[in-house]
Amino acid sequence: MKLQNKVAIVTGGSRGIGAAISKELAKEGAQVILTYHSSPDKAQSVLEEIKNFGGEGRIFQADASSFTDAQKTVDFALNEFGALHILVNNAGITKDNLILRMTEQDWDEVINTNLKSVFNYSKAAVKPMMNQREGKIINISSVVGIMGNVGQANYVAAKAGVIGLTKTLAREFASRNINVNAVAPGYIETDMTSKLNDVQKQAILNLIPLKRIGKPEDVAKLVAFLASDDANYITGQVFCVDGGMVM
Ligand code: NAD
Repeated sequence: MKLQNKVAIVTGGSRGIGAAISKELAKEGAQVILTYHSSPDKAQSVLEEIKNFGGEGRIFQADASSFTDAQKTVDFALNEFGALHILVNNAGITKDNLILRMTEQDWDEVINTNLKSVFNYSKAAVKPMMNQREGKIINISSVVGIMGNVGQANYVAAKAGVIGLTKTLAREFASRNINVNAVAPGYIETDMTSKLNDVQKQAILNLIPLKRIGKPEDVAKLVAFLASDDANYITGQVFCVDGGMVM
């Protein structure tokens, strides 16, 4: 197991990609705190799955867009498990619309949940990681943060911002032995993409050389690798998990 004795926080771990990441890290031996915003039942059932295969973890209610909640999550991890080695900034939402129809509120909510959250959790997590002289931060961006996308100005700006923030954190904390990387999923089958209609889904499939929609587990495997000592010489990078959409 690659992550024995490591402690991890995964934001938005109650479903989709975050749930798959939480399970994969736990399978590799990590003790996982998975945060949830509003669905304690779903978070609890992910934790039960983890416990059923002999893994260890906790659930914690937190709004990722709140710095106070981010600090409380990190304090909880330290109180429960005595350390924090891995942070996965996964929480995210969409509020899609063409820019002419996008409201200021929809802009702010997406920026705060998808970008400010990465600032919040990273700032809170680097303190214990610096003391340990060891840490791995993995930020979930998106291929649209690289390509742009019609109708997603708020989401694209946030995901592009996550890439810039990843590179800056990687440079600021390299000397402290903290590696910071971004993972940019393409089209992955979760609640987030279930909102798309068949025409939109087919249009996206036409852009995927591997001709299939990704699974949350496709993303989780890469995150577990980046969280492990196997990735000690990798920092400041963006990895697409997208069936070849971006190349
Ligand atoms: P999802 O909607 O299934 O899950 C999103 C998770 O984020 C949920 O657990 C939700 O509770 C949590 N969340 C939302 N707002 C929160 C908040 N304020 N505080 C804490 N948690 C909050 O979506 P998903 O597809 O699993 O997305 C996970 C991540 O992957 C997101 O950052 C998303 O932008 C990114 N992503 C997804 C795809 C895709 O195709 N599904 C593609 C690229 C990137």
